[in-house]
Amino acid sequence: MAKILDVYINGGFRASASSETIPVLNPATQEVLVEAPYTLMSEIDSAVAAAQAAFLKWRRVPSPERARLMLNYQLLLKQHHDEIAEILAKETGKTFADAKGDVWRGIEVAEQACNVPSMMMGETSENVARGIDTYSLIQPLGVCVGITPFNFPAMIPLWMFPMAIACGNTFVLKPSEQDPLTPNRLVELFYEAGFPEDLLQLVHGGKEQVDALITHADTRAISFVGSVAVGQHVYRTGTDQLKRVQCMAGAKNHMLVMPDADKEQVISALVGSSVGAAGQRCMAISVAVFVGAAQQWLPELAAAMSEVRPGAWDDESAAYGPQISPQARSRVLSYIEKGKTEGATCLLDGSDCSVDGMPDGNWVGPTLFADASTDMSIYTDEIFGPVLVSLNADTLDDAIKIINANPYGNGTSIFTASGGAARKFQSEIEVGQVGINIPIPVPLPFFSFTGWKNSFYGDQHAYGKQAVRFYTETKTITARWFSEDAVVQSNMTIDLK
Ligand code: NAD
Repeated sequence: MAKILDVYINGGFRASASSETIPVLNPATQEVLVEAPYTLMSEIDSAVAAAQAAFLKWRRVPSPERARLMLNYQLLLKQHHDEIAEILAKETGKTFADAKGDVWRGIEVAEQACNVPSMMMGETSENVARGIDTYSLIQPLGVCVGITPFNFPAMIPLWMFPMAIACGNTFVLKPSEQDPLTPNRLVELFYEAGFPEDLLQLVHGGKEQVDALITHADTRAISFVGSVAVGQHVYRTGTDQLKRVQCMAGAKNHMLVMPDADKEQVISALVGSSVGAAGQRCMAISVAVFVGAAQQWLPELAAAMSEVRPGAWDDESAAYGPQISPQARSRVLSYIEKGKTEGATCLLDGSDCSVDGMPDGNWVGPTLFADASTDMSIYTDEIFGPVLVSLNADTLDDAIKIINANPYGNGTSIFTASGGAARKFQSEIEVGQVGINIPIPVPLPFFSFTGWKNSFYGDQHAYGKQAVRFYTETKTITARWFSEDAVVQSNMTIDLK
């Protein structure tokens, strides 16, 4: 049997006492890379208790000292950037370039966390009543929990624990059981950076472990990223336990293509944003809405998509990697079949896809459907594969109506040469992250991540600088400092009529 991955619980990395494990497979070969343990419930309790004990000391460490440790950490992450990316590429199948992007976007959030002293400044107002001042303190919450998906195993854990810990909290991370090697390395480097023990606990597992964390009496805040069904479960359960919860969930992102757009730019953007990362991005474009004459570009789009091929992580000519698991691949293939039976035109069919020398990989080729309608399951469901569905609309208004009627609201974009069309789109579209001639408009971490509708439940202060609002409480102090005769009083009399 392959090595069993350690957990970090109560004072250090250790083997879980659990006898139940899940194999972590290389998705290009099915080779077992490692086994992840299903952490025992007693171990979860021990992780939360250790994090709670550590919190009582860590919250008193001055914020510049916390920031200095975070500076060490972001530097270590940069120094180990390529090494982490290689671990990540092997367990996710992402191309090396894509894996490096995953790590880098996480480092950017750790960089933001180094600014925590200024981000935790409160507000002050002098003399709100005679001799009385009011000011606010920003304070950490306690033990926070992070539950992360498979598709960004570096970036998404790094969205969460650096900011939470820099704010003075402690953290329990439960990463995806499908690619836990990268998070383990992130936690090793965290302690190498010099952080005191027990600030960051790491447990592995699935539903049972998640449920234990989100219902635990001593966990205060929950950050979740993953699918809609699980996000709804985590949101409902966590808020029912009266915890602070934010859940970033699934997506169906549309690109609206106006006929005045630059055709070459549109085609290149659609290819990259629909099949890049094997379509396994929450901000992937999975629907193209062509307005009017732009529909005529479909054959050229199909030709461009057909030139793109998947391959191994270290094959520099590969555009993207495999689906994360054989189950994920089967699910994507079943949607391609459904699309055909539901009556859409399959302009490019990636079901029969192979890669030389890697017969067991979870490969799916680029797939393009035309003539789809909004009641087809290939349109209504998140497929999470390299499948692009195209719809036609007569006008900009019709296209906006289609997008606004969709229950997801993570990302969208418009391609147009018209400032007026773009401005109308940004104003009327009911989606949280909007690109104008940009296919995947992910904000940098000085902004928040702002999915709408079924793509986000709960507090939107989800990442980067804004996450300080999620991971802290505000305490407002109103103080009369001295007895009234020692206070400088105004001698002005105001006669309010
Ligand atoms: P997932 O929901 O299957 O798993 C996410 C996490 O929840 C994992 O840690 C998993 O162990 C745990 N989990 C799984 N089933 C559970 C259950 N029944 N109860 C409690 N916990 C459970 O998601 P995934 O397949 O790993 O990731 C892909 C999904 O994540 C896609 O839907 C994608 O759109 C979404 N995603 C969203 C964003 C965003 O920012 N909105 C970012 C990345 C991914």
